[in-house]
Amino acid sequence: MFPIPPNETERLAELLQYRILDTDPEDAFDRVTRLAAKVMGAPIALVSFVDKDRQWSKSRYGLEADETGRASAFCAHAIMESKIMVVDDATADPRFRDNPHVVADPSIRFYAGAPLRSPKGNNLGTLCIMDKAPRTLSREDQGLLADLAAVVMDEVELRSRASTDSLTGVLNRRYFDEIGAVEFRRSKRYGHAFSVVMLDVDSFKSVNDRFGHATGDEALRQVAQKLRQGLREHDILARYGGEEFVVLLTETTPAHAAHIAERLRQRAMVELHVGSEDYRITSSAGLASQRDSDKELADIIARADAALFRAKAEGRDRVVNSDAFVEDDGHTGP
Ligand code: GH3
Ligand code: MG
Ligand code: MG
Repeated sequence: MFPIPPNETERLAELLQYRILDTDPEDAFDRVTRLAAKVMGAPIALVSFVDKDRQWSKSRYGLEADETGRASAFCAHAIMESKIMVVDDATADPRFRDNPHVVADPSIRFYAGAPLRSPKGNNLGTLCIMDKAPRTLSREDQGLLADLAAVVMDEVELRSRASTDSLTGVLNRRYFDEIGAVEFRRSKRYGHAFSVVMLDVDSFKSVNDRFGHATGDEALRQVAQKLRQGLREHDILARYGGEEFVVLLTETTPAHAAHIAERLRQRAMVELHVGSEDYRITSSAGLASQRDSDKELADIIARADAALFRAKAEGRDRVVNSDAFVEDDGHTGP
């Protein structure tokens, strides 16, 4: 078993939001593990995150495996501490004496891990160094490891900020295009169906005109939040343009996607009460599901866009499913 931090639910939710689990190696992180190992003379250094049941490494120096069960993870203990955790000799520590990484390969003896503490105060993982022989870590080196952990956390933050839309907090378009392409390839490879919903707020110009830009901003924030609440963990929501959102529904049949798209449209409704005025903000959506002939994500997005155009033309406040009409010269009539 492993210890569970008191803030575990919030910690895991925040870890997921960073969207770093299972991503490819990146130089910025590899530099830090290399540096930590060299400077402190340790054969192994890891940047790891502690997920629900596992420890996953974003960067590893001197170790092959990129994940291990949480029950056998040293870092699962290190995230319980507010400061660095040092184990001079694991064979002398009842928590780690019988640990498979101690009794068998790679025969860990020494461990030092500094928590990767988010600005909200959740320990998402650690920067750690390990050795196959018992040793100690000087105070100076403990400080250094903590400093490097802060560098890693800054990088995690930067990475996250670069992918987030600052007004609504959902993903931005640049990042959506990036991970959308990955999803597309993955779905082709494994034969998973996926669908795209393009959702555009109706007559939003008149919202700004009547209530002002600040109220418009607040309404957009609310739309984004409502959409997010209506999605499953693995769905991908991004702000695609000014008042336009895109949702990638993964592992979904077209029929189920139609159901979700309708639910999202209803959820995205926002009631404004300004002074004595009540105003309901609606949205229109276009839905498209992947076809065998699709070469890239843009092909599906184009169909979703055409369906959205139709939803607008047919009177707004509705979903149009691109599978339900035959495309001709673009946007006119079935
Ligand atoms: P339609 O139903 O056809 O989509 O009408 P619309 O008025 O929503 O569409 P149009 O494209 O004419 O106008 C979009 C408006 O959205 C204009 C733009 O000022 C506003 N908008 C875009 N981004 C933002 C934003 O970040 N904040 C605010 N307040 N308004 C925005
Ligand atoms: Mg609009
Ligand atoms: Mg628009």
